[in-house]
Amino acid sequence: MTIVTADRYNAFHEVWDEISHAEGTLAGMTIAIKDNIVTKTGTTTCGSRMLEGYKSPFDATVVSRLQNAGATLVGKTNCDEFAMGSSTEHCAWGPVRNPWDETRVPGGSSGGSAVAVAARLCDCALGSDTGGSIRQPAAFCGVVGYKPTYGTVSRYGLVAFASSLDQIGTFSTTVEDAARVTQVIGGYDELDSTSNPEPLPNVTSELRTPINNLRIGVPSQYLGENNEPAVTEAVLQAIETYKELGATIVDVELPLTDVGISTYYVLAPAEASSNLARYDGIRYGHRTSEPCTDLFELYAKNRAEGFGEEVKRRIMLGTYVLSSGYYDAYYNNALRVRRLICQEYQQAFHKCDVILGPTAPTAAFKIGEKTDPVSMYLNDVYTANTNIAGICGISIPCGFSEEHGVKLPVGLHLQSAWHDDATLLRAAQMFETATPFHLETPEQSS
Ligand code: GLN
Repeated sequence: MTIVTADRYNAFHEVWDEISHAEGTLAGMTIAIKDNIVTKTGTTTCGSRMLEGYKSPFDATVVSRLQNAGATLVGKTNCDEFAMGSSTEHCAWGPVRNPWDETRVPGGSSGGSAVAVAARLCDCALGSDTGGSIRQPAAFCGVVGYKPTYGTVSRYGLVAFASSLDQIGTFSTTVEDAARVTQVIGGYDELDSTSNPEPLPNVTSELRTPINNLRIGVPSQYLGENNEPAVTEAVLQAIETYKELGATIVDVELPLTDVGISTYYVLAPAEASSNLARYDGIRYGHRTSEPCTDLFELYAKNRAEGFGEEVKRRIMLGTYVLSSGYYDAYYNNALRVRRLICQEYQQAFHKCDVILGPTAPTAAFKIGEKTDPVSMYLNDVYTANTNIAGICGISIPCGFSEEHGVKLPVGLHLQSAWHDDATLLRAAQMFETATPFHLETPEQSS
């Protein structure tokens, strides 16, 4: 059991010190919880002033399942406000720092969870992934980040950002831990209307059996000019490793890769604008101390003071694309593209079991480096479509970039078809067993 000691990276918003003495399959495992997943212990703030000091009256399903399995929950990790971001700079409690280089971001929005595991402050952490928020920070921090198929893990108690895309998943140092924890938190939950009613397959039992004749699809769209050379290099090396393990590489095409971001930035803000309407400062959220003459002014002041800039931008964007006159042009069109993206993946998965590429086009960037929102959004170019299609994806360590004068981790992104998580995890396990990258820690490199 690893226990949080010092947190110089601002990974945690709260550290708890209760140790679980319960028995169960996760007894002895320390697990941190992203601050947008509700817990009766402590507070749940979503990295926002809007929810400063908020105490949930109930535990999320994933939280009670972890406790019942004997895990020790160590605290709440910092995230971008309401999980909107790719750097964990947009957190009301300050930016989170990357342990490989403290002048750099850990990725986001689940940056605190990624750092907690990368710095070995705990064994595992939960995050949420709406467009890449588990996989991209896992890549930037050199750990395993797994987003299960939509509906595998209950969203009950996950503070909603974009409900048709949100999914809870894990950060860990090994694929095996990702599978073990998912076995506990996954499976049907009647409290989530989109929870998959099928029994959860036993992903852990066959994890260590390599897949014979694994077919890996490598879309040309994933290895283009956008990537920094060290990222493409590490991915090409990973392809060689898989070939040595007996895998067959097949060409697949995902031409809609580059429209993923524009589709995501219609769908996700649309859902967010609706989900975040509840923070009016009356039922939930920050209440202004300024005098107000009417109810509208009270709402306006509460929301103006409580929300940060990025969240306001998303609410305005979402309200715009849903407004009459623009609904068809933006929201309905994005839904049509969503269907095409799903079909494109389905066709690709006729030819292969796993799609492989980089998790993000670059290694971790500097804190403060990305000042315009679009350059930040482009970080999710390889991860957003996974959520749009609802399929599963994982980022695993596959090497390092030395391009920036420091050693920075590079993540390998694997995706599998809807509910084919067992194949995804087995394919990831094959790579991990054959390579040393997951064993390196930031302490060794500093
Ligand atoms: N970076 C994306 C965004 O800002 C994805 C966030 C997420 O997955 N929660 O919306």
